[in-house]
This record gives sequence, C-alpha cells and structure tokens, in this order.
Amino acid sequence: MNVYDSDRMSDVLAPLGYAPTDLPEGADMVILNTCHIREKASEKVFSELGRLRQLKERARDQQGRQMTIAVAGCVAQAEGAEITRRAPWVDIVVGPQTYHRLPELVSQIDPMARNRVIDTDFPEEVKFDFLPGEHAPRGPAAFLSVQEGCDKFCAFCVVPYTRGAEFSRPVATVVEEARRLVAGGTRELTLLGQNVNAYHGEAKDGKSWTLGRLIRELADIEGLDRLRYTTSHPLDMDDELISAHGDVPQLMPYLHLPIQSGSNHVLAAMNRRHTSDVYLAVIDKLRAVRPDIAMSGDFIVGFPGETDRDFAETLQLVNQVGYASAYSFKYSPRPGTPAASSDDQVAEEVKAERLESLQQLLNAQQFAFNKATEGQVVDILVERAGGRAGQMAGRSPYMQAVNFVGDESQIGQIVPCKLSAARQNSMTGEIVAIKGAA
Ligand code: SAH
Ligand code: SF4
Repeated sequence: MNVYDSDRMSDVLAPLGYAPTDLPEGADMVILNTCHIREKASEKVFSELGRLRQLKERARDQQGRQMTIAVAGCVAQAEGAEITRRAPWVDIVVGPQTYHRLPELVSQIDPMARNRVIDTDFPEEVKFDFLPGEHAPRGPAAFLSVQEGCDKFCAFCVVPYTRGAEFSRPVATVVEEARRLVAGGTRELTLLGQNVNAYHGEAKDGKSWTLGRLIRELADIEGLDRLRYTTSHPLDMDDELISAHGDVPQLMPYLHLPIQSGSNHVLAAMNRRHTSDVYLAVIDKLRAVRPDIAMSGDFIVGFPGETDRDFAETLQLVNQVGYASAYSFKYSPRPGTPAASSDDQVAEEVKAERLESLQQLLNAQQFAFNKATEGQVVDILVERAGGRAGQMAGRSPYMQAVNFVGDESQIGQIVPCKLSAARQNSMTGEIVAIKGAA
C-alpha cells in the first residue's frame, strides 16, 4: 500500500512541477513514506533522516539550494511530534489520510522562517476524491487501493491507530481507476486493503458490494487479465469471495491469508476472533473450488504468553496447510497497543529460536512448492528486465518470481513459459511460444 500511496503522492505533486527521481541527491524534495508496523521499520526512518540531513545541508551550503524533507505514512501519523523533536530539519509531516493536501503543505513551507508543517488529521473528506484522475502509466502489474484502515484491533497491531477506521471506496471509483490503469497498459491488478476482504463499497444499485462482487465486476474489464487481492482476514472470507476463486478465471490461484499463530490460546489473546479450525475450514473450501491454489500467510512468534506448546501448534498448523510462501516475524511491542503492556513478554532469545525453526519449515515448504511446479507450462506476465543480462522477469499465476531468457519488447505480454528449475525464492523458466502481444 505504501507503493500505491507513494505513486499517488507523486500524482498529486505533478501539477506543481515535481517529477519522481531515482536518487535523493539533487532532489528539490525528498518524501520518506514510512511503515510503523514493527519497531525495525520505524527505527529505519530516523537513521534515514540522519542521512538526509547531510544532503540537505550540502545542498544549502554548497549549492545555495533548498531541499524540502517530508515524512509521510504511518510513522508520521504515530510519531509526528517525536520526528520534529528528533529531526528538526524535517519540513513536512503528513499522515496516510492527508497526503492529498501535499500541494497546500508545500506552499506553507517558508525556508526563511524555517517553519514546519504537520498534518496528521483524520479528515472528514476522503483523500481519494482529491487525488488526480490522470496519472503516469503504472506498468503491466499495478496496485489499486480499494479499502483502508481496520476496525479489528488485534492486540499487537498499530494499523487501527495509524490508518484509522475501516473505509471502502465506492465501486464506481474503483472501476474507473481500474479502467484508466488498463488503458495505460496495466494487465494485472492487485486490489489493496489492510483488510481488503472486509470491502463493502457502495454501488450504483444503492447496495454495498462485497469484494467477491467487485472482483466479478472488474473481471469484465476488457484487457484486465489478472486479478489478485491482499491482505485478507480469515473471518471475512465469505462464500461469494471463495466461489470467485472457482469461477473467475482472471482471479489468480494464490492467496495471502495470515493466521499469525496456530494456537487457539494465542489467537484468543491476540483478539483474532477465530480458531485455527475456522482458518483450516476456509482453506478447505478454497481448495475445493480451486485445488491448485497457492497459500501464503503471516506468522508472529513470541506473542506475550506464547509457550513452547503454543509454538508447537503453529508448526503443526504450518505442516497441515503446506504454504507456497509466507512471512514470519518476531513479535514487536508497538506503543499504544494492548499487548505491548502485557507483563508476559517472551525473551528475545526464545523469539529468535522460534523464528529460526519456523522459517526453516516455511523455507522447506516454499522450495517443495517450487519443486512441484517444475515442468509445468504456465502463463507469465512479463513485467521487467531480470537480474542478469538477457533475462526478463515476471510472475507465475502462483505468484512465483520467474526469470527467463527474453527481451524488453516482451514487457506487458503474457507468455506461456515452462518452469524449468526451482530455486528457493524464484523459478527459472523457458518461453514456449509467444501469444497475445500487448
Ligand atoms: N490485516 C492483516 C495484516 C496487516 S499487518 C491481517 O489481519 O492479517 C501485516 C503483518 O505484520 C501481520 O499479518 C503480522 O504478521 C505482522 N505484524 C503486525 N503487527 C506486528 C507486531 N506488533 N509484531 C510483529 N509482527 C507484526
Ligand atoms: Fe492489524 Fe490486520 Fe488485525 Fe486489523 S486485522 S488489527 S490490520 S492485524
């Protein structure tokens, strides 16, 4: 979502004459778009700000030039005051729900007065209504935010505090943005939301539509060949969405569905509001309609009170599901969340050990999944040049990164590709024949 938001910030600043650049050196403005989900992510902001301070001073002292520094995103939202205290060279602090106001904020900066502007409101207006319709093409695979914020309040999570209350964009504006992206060459869309499957956007018929319904509507757009969505909560996997996996061919056979822990005791303490059986039942239903669906998930180890037995239940659940890929993290206490003040914190070494054994298992599963796809011919959407010369890169329907010999004229094409060799995090492929030039 931060990638999507960064692109939108760039759209909103374009009429002022700003254009994106790859390097901060020489830039008139640098915006750090930040993540607050774990401590590691938010600490990075302060070290990065130290580096930017030097650039700003150099621009001023050696080139007589003003460099504006802005901090956006969830660290800005949660720690605006702390940022201005620890990094007084920051000019603008803007939260995730007010970045449509960037032009106004930029105009309030006065280098002579050395003032700072902070806007971390949760405004009445909806930022999406103030973002420009026209924008630069986003490439063959693009993101589209359809839902934001969260009302679930899991005990470890800052999202409800930083992104605010749950909000779904109306169907018509989502469809309009999707059409525009497709007109600009996009063929795959990933629908985004912190709780994307809680989507309930208002439709023309006056009803509120579910994500499943929205996906069916988007699948009718000519030229939109692939759809994905992320991130989902198990409790919001309703039948309409599950059945879409069976009968919407554009919906790719891959789903990121976090559970966090395999222990019902930990799930309850996390306020996830479901058991591991409920999660497994959702996966059974998905596999019944789409047997080849690749599953992904998120796990937290060392949540306060997690015992060896609880952790063993996580490993057991992972063994039961068989993931194609997954993300796992040590529990990171976040300020203001209920779990952070628990006096049952798990020791750092225990967290590290558990993370290591979980990751070993997940890595083995990922490699096994990749290995099992060897020899298959699948469609790849060619997205970009690959790591090595003469190589191109794209994604398989199962979200595997695939590298193959090709050339840049293929970018934007969907090509049948034989998955010839499995690696830990990617596949090597060979194009079988070209079809469907973009
Ligand atoms: N809405 C999604 C997750 C959003 S946050 C869901 O409900 O599953 C993305 C991931 O970050 C989470 O799934 C979780 O695994 C991880 N995460 C969130 N807060 C964390 C914390 N305090 N410590 C460690 N990991 C955390
Ligand atoms: Fe955070 Fe996801 Fe829980 Fe919402 S549902 S509080 S975003 S982990």
